Amino acid sequence: MSDTNPFEIERLGASQYESPLKLSTTKGDHLFNFVSETDRLVFDLSLERYNHCLNTGETPICMEQAGPRQHIFFESNKTTAAIVTCGGLCPGINNVIRGLVMALHYFYGVKRIIGIPYGYEGLNPAKGHGFVELTPEKVRDIHQFGGTFLGSSRGAQDVGIMVDTLQENHVDMLFAIGGDGTLKGVNALGEEISKRNAKISVVGIPKTIDNDIDLIDESFGFETAFDVASPILRDAHNEATGAYNGISIIKLMGRDSGFIAASAALAMPVVNFVLVPEMNFGLEGENGFLNILEQRLQQKKHAVIVVAEGAGQQLFEHRQEIKDASGNIKHEDIGVFLKEKITAYFKGKETPVTIKYIDPSYIVRCAPANSSDSVYCSRLAYHAVHGAMAGKTKFVASKVNNKYVYVPISEVTKKRKKINLEGEFWFSVLQSTGQPFSLG
Ligand code: ATP
Ligand code: MG
Repeated sequence: MSDTNPFEIERLGASQYESPLKLSTTKGDHLFNFVSETDRLVFDLSLERYNHCLNTGETPICMEQAGPRQHIFFESNKTTAAIVTCGGLCPGINNVIRGLVMALHYFYGVKRIIGIPYGYEGLNPAKGHGFVELTPEKVRDIHQFGGTFLGSSRGAQDVGIMVDTLQENHVDMLFAIGGDGTLKGVNALGEEISKRNAKISVVGIPKTIDNDIDLIDESFGFETAFDVASPILRDAHNEATGAYNGISIIKLMGRDSGFIAASAALAMPVVNFVLVPEMNFGLEGENGFLNILEQRLQQKKHAVIVVAEGAGQQLFEHRQEIKDASGNIKHEDIGVFLKEKITAYFKGKETPVTIKYIDPSYIVRCAPANSSDSVYCSRLAYHAVHGAMAGKTKFVASKVNNKYVYVPISEVTKKRKKINLEGEFWFSVLQSTGQPFSLG
């Protein structure tokens, strides 16, 4: 194993306890079910990389395989675990909370599980939120609902105070369910914990409805998001075709990455234009969006437009940068803006159009997880628990190349994942919508 592997996970110390998990462990010399601490999965699966390593003798870059270890760091019946959820809502958060509690309680016999209310605020005693004791009974039914059972918040809290709270309450492991902000936050807690030489494991379970966490295949809840958006697009299409020159504009989430908009359009292929933050489009001129839309109406008498919330921000003149409590840039409302621009354009031409503007963003993000996301959430939670019990820290449990792995938080938060406009995925979107490669 190369010493320079960027994907090696930090550990709190040696694993000295036998895992309480009862698995069918050995067949001859082989361990089954338990994952060995040396099990690795190759990250770059291309033949080119394979040949390069073969020719140079270089060790391929690998990731740690997720799963239960036969020897663990924490004495599980004396362990205290804590769970926090931060940032915006996303389908599946409750499934992850439930999965964590069930795995901690039933697999490992962890007796004390603390729910931290309202995000990182809950780790600041000055906010007075208290804690929620989590038991299998309490979380039994929460997977049926969207949102987060623990509540969430944005806004920074003092890292020192939060680590004080963890230490004062004898927390051994903290599971943080959240997006890039939450993951950077929990990594900062991990750094402070290391400085204090404390033995608290911090674990992230990446939550981002936008699917914009780098390196990982897909974040939980993302599939539910476009699953819920699909019938809305179908109905918006009915609205558009129901009027002469009917236009439906649907705004979906996607602050910096347009994966939901693009995937929803592929899932319900009635969409004629997808506008995403990754593309730089213009409204005016022969190749501008308005003229292309007019051509489409002349031919088909209706159009369905899906726009991601972060698309077209360059179109706003004199835009003032406003930020939310966590420092995320608040976007101008591109949906309303497009509706106004389209209305004005066709009014100038005395062409009658009927425009319907639909913004289902909050309905999409509050939906309960679909079956596939439910499976995914449970498995992510189980793997997060196995990793924490083995004393790993500052890592996320996730899926890469369709395999469950542990990845350092610092690696997945380096940059955001975006749609590659030269890639096969976006090309499929263009094939499905029939929109030109560039607009304006
Ligand atoms: P979403 O995808 O909804 O944006 P998120 O997890 O990125 O989810 P944020 O509101 O951006 O949501 O961040 C969640 C929390 O993490 C906030 O309380 C924020 O202040 C905190 N946070 C972000 N970055 C850091 C950091 N570097 N150190 C400490 N805390 C941080
Ligand atoms: Mg964020």
